[in-house]
Amino acid sequence: MNKNLLLLFLLIVTFNTCLSQTPITIIDKAVVFDEHRKELTLEYKRERYHLHEDSVEIVPKMIVLHWTVIPTFEKTFDAFNSPELPNWRPELEGVSGLNVSSQFVVDRDGTIYRLMPETYMARHTIGLNHCAIGIENVGGTKELPLTEAQQQSNIQLVSYLKEKYPTIDYLIGHYQYTNFEDHPLWLEVNDAYRTVKDDPDEAFLESVKAGTKQYNFKPTPFAKDAH
Ligand SMILES: [Zn+2]
Repeated sequence: MNKNLLLLFLLIVTFNTCLSQTPITIIDKAVVFDEHRKELTLEYKRERYHLHEDSVEIVPKMIVLHWTVIPTFEKTFDAFNSPELPNWRPELEGVSGLNVSSQFVVDRDGTIYRLMPETYMARHTIGLNHCAIGIENVGGTKELPLTEAQQQSNIQLVSYLKEKYPTIDYLIGHYQYTNFEDHPLWLEVNDAYRTVKDDPDEAFLESVKAGTKQYNFKPTPFAKDAH
């Protein structure tokens, strides 16, 4: 190979490497994931999904975007940190004590925090936790609408996750989760266990979808009501 050809070859390799790696900065700020949280997670898998497994790992099939309503990262972290739901009453049959959380939180300035290993199950979306990675965005109220920086970080983070886990087929907003009730990925055993969600708003979800459209996520199923 002559010198010019070699140089061209190196340039192409460098260019392709740049294209395939999304530059991203993630700050690890781990919530407590001790033996107790592991046990509560395995119990949640058994009770809610009839998944009898000895691992808290998930195979990610979707990403769910949220907003916290909680106004700061610190308060969000505090809410997710404890393994147990606050005010949990263990004597109540069929009610899981596993605290809510999500794998990622994006602060208002766009800083991305990782709260637990990316493929550990977090409790953030009824029916789908066994296959969903959650991204929480700090804010979401009328006084604190989600920011442009959060939108850009969500695009970066979704790109990073899809490139790392090709098994991810869907990108949805939490408000769409019940659209999956008739989908094979839906595993919640109790038909009455639902909460109404409106996070994040449609405009935010659509902007993140537009920024990641090259990954060709599958379309979200239609809501039952829409049929
Ligand atoms: Zn949510």
